[in-house]
Amino acid sequence: MIVQLCAKVPESEIDFIVFVLDGFRYKLVEIFDKKLIVINDSTTRDMSNIVKKIRSLKSVEQIIKCNTDYKLVGRCNQFNQDVFVGGLKLNGDDFNVIAGPCSVESEERIHKIASYICRSDAKILRGGTYKARTSPYSFHGLGKAGVQYLYQAAKKYNLLSITEVLDTRDVEFVSEYVDIIQIGTRNMYNFALLKEVAKTKKPVFLKRGFSASYKDFLLAAEYIHSEGNSNVILCERGIKTFEHYTRNTLDINAVPALKQLTNLPVFIDPSHGTGDRDFVFPISLAALAVGAHGIMLEVHDDPDASLSDAKQTIDIETFFTLMTKIRELKKVL
Ligand code: PEP
Ligand code: MN
Repeated sequence: MIVQLCAKVPESEIDFIVFVLDGFRYKLVEIFDKKLIVINDSTTRDMSNIVKKIRSLKSVEQIIKCNTDYKLVGRCNQFNQDVFVGGLKLNGDDFNVIAGPCSVESEERIHKIASYICRSDAKILRGGTYKARTSPYSFHGLGKAGVQYLYQAAKKYNLLSITEVLDTRDVEFVSEYVDIIQIGTRNMYNFALLKEVAKTKKPVFLKRGFSASYKDFLLAAEYIHSEGNSNVILCERGIKTFEHYTRNTLDINAVPALKQLTNLPVFIDPSHGTGDRDFVFPISLAALAVGAHGIMLEVHDDPDASLSDAKQTIDIETFFTLMTKIRELKKVL
């Protein structure tokens, strides 16, 4: 249940509502100048008397019933707004492409790759700077220097930028440089990190945990929203199944399902979703056809020399051919 309060509600009225709600879990959230009290009503306790009492208060504008646990990111929240990044609307009709290397490897290389990306319809440059690697002996990214190289390259080539953050201690620094903060699959359940990135008010690109249900995924987004940051972009990046021929199993169902459940933009990551550069092209087209709001691609000028995820990284030529095909398919659709 969401209780929407009137514009200038006195603290004493809020205290009274909180007193009435004693025993229920709730959170006071301020979104777009609206004060909302989000109440966990999924308990077996009967709320009818409480609803009656709250509804009679002058300071309550309306009460919105939600039958899902994710109340702010769910469709029942009528205050859902569009998600914008630097003037780009991410949950509209456009198909937005995020492209760049798995990792920022050097200043020179990220500039070179950005110089190609900016010649396409892709508007957002990706590059990992803090890398969550399965092995402690793999390349773990350039850290702060990488963030600065990414920022400079994006600025020079008029692109927006995105990088992943792994640790709450790096959130403030990263948020000063990039336009979008990425939360990777391994951290979807890292609630301390979700709350920390929410505080920055920067758009958050939230990747689905590789074994997370849609409900868990949306509740992770709800963590960010309930801290007052509604700019969340969901990304399906493949889940773990019994199939090992591909690195992950891309759950294409996630696109229509999540679009039914939420107003947030839904992206697909064909690179991690397949783990195979030969499959990135067809799966990118599938993402467009199924109605995703965009894709995230790993692109490198010399994919085999990539310091991470070489097998799933496409070269510049394939990237340009794919971008042309995307344009053509868009017309057909
Ligand atoms: C990435 O985008 O570089 C990445 C590590 O993705 P994921 O968290 O989906 O594995
Ligand atoms: Mn990668």
